[in-house]
Amino acid sequence: MPALSRRTFAQGALLGLSHWLGVCKPADAYHQPGDGVTLVAEGRPVVTLVTPDTPNDSVHYAAVELSWHIEKATGFQPATVTESKVTSTGLGKTHIFLGDTRFARKAGVDFDALGPESCALRTVGRHLCIAGHDTSGSPVDVNTSAGTLFGVYELLDRYFAVRWLWPGELGTFVPKAESVVVPLQDRVVTPRFMQRQVRTGAGLRTKDHPEMGFTTAAAEDYMNAQAAFLRRNRMGRRIPAKYGHAFVDWWRQYGAEHPEWFQLVNGKRGPSRLGGRFSMCISNAGLHEEIVSQWRQHGGDRPGHLPTFVNAVENDVPGQCECDVCKALDGHEPPNYRKFIPSKSKLASKPFVSDRYARSWQAIQQNAAKYNSNAVVVGYAYMNYFAAPTSGVKLGPNIMIGFCPSSWFYPRSGDEQDWMKAQWRGWADTQAKLFMRANYFLDGYC
Ligand SMILES: [Zn+2]
Repeated sequence: MPALSRRTFAQGALLGLSHWLGVCKPADAYHQPGDGVTLVAEGRPVVTLVTPDTPNDSVHYAAVELSWHIEKATGFQPATVTESKVTSTGLGKTHIFLGDTRFARKAGVDFDALGPESCALRTVGRHLCIAGHDTSGSPVDVNTSAGTLFGVYELLDRYFAVRWLWPGELGTFVPKAESVVVPLQDRVVTPRFMQRQVRTGAGLRTKDHPEMGFTTAAAEDYMNAQAAFLRRNRMGRRIPAKYGHAFVDWWRQYGAEHPEWFQLVNGKRGPSRLGGRFSMCISNAGLHEEIVSQWRQHGGDRPGHLPTFVNAVENDVPGQCECDVCKALDGHEPPNYRKFIPSKSKLASKPFVSDRYARSWQAIQQNAAKYNSNAVVVGYAYMNYFAAPTSGVKLGPNIMIGFCPSSWFYPRSGDEQDWMKAQWRGWADTQAKLFMRANYFLDGYC
């Protein structure tokens, strides 16, 4: 059964509404077997929610979420019980079995075959199983696999036409439901993207940012509502990717012993001024060895099926090394490159260095692959290595690149937008895996 395609938001709002209208049936339709499982009839829920006897936090939360939305849709709260409370005579009525229940297993749901964040949606007689891959941890944490919860949102999105437009109850659109019938089905839903994530800003404290205008209590309420909202829109990830500017503290730690790992600028290794930011001598083989060695010390070379990430993301500055080895790796500057660098940008005076980074990530990846074939090197397309490489370098899927259009133009002209897309396509042509790693709403067009 193919995974259900996720729709764009605008399409979803329209399609979802028409789908909801499409499943409206005459009030007595739910007595007819064979055409689906009736969850709401004559404006009332006709279903009992069932959790395992000891549901984990995520499945418990899934039941609470489903119950809350059904109550919003009908004005009536459906009963929720644990599985031991369901008698065989009780099964004459419709139930939704949530998570890893005996019922779901008996119905043939293979929990071992469900990947992270996946959920089986299966109608069984007059019942519905929503049975996902669930791990422990907070249900709203992006690192918790909450397949059952995502299955609940799939149900609410598709058959109740619920839309989560902004955090909080006011932004939660739940149409009144007269009749909801779920078609017979046996499918597995999994988010299409392996990572869907928006930074929450939850680390911002109101006392440090009074301009936000929140009291501490209001900020906490907002963050809770936002966390629920993001999860309802299936934010999460199924890879344990760790990345970010990797070498921020390295000059202090290693500068004295290994100045050759650091940028050479005006004949001097390391930061141009005391305490200043610096880039690396990214082509340096000794640096590559150290990056891989530290990854191994953190267990990167332990055998396993999951990708293991080698963080090779440059510091938060342009790539500046002037050494001959770095320069030898550079590709030619694209002919239209300067046209798209704002003249006041700190990049205006910097060379185009994308190929040296691409080829250095490749060298690091080849080194790490000697210890673990699942090694994935992470870099950013950013600053003066944002534009796509020009040397024809092929990187392959074990290099993952965060596409970071930070502080470029806003608003964008058609030309600028086309150029931006061409850079994405150019990096995609290296066959690396790409992810969007924009910095700001509007400014970064995320
Ligand atoms: Zn260098």
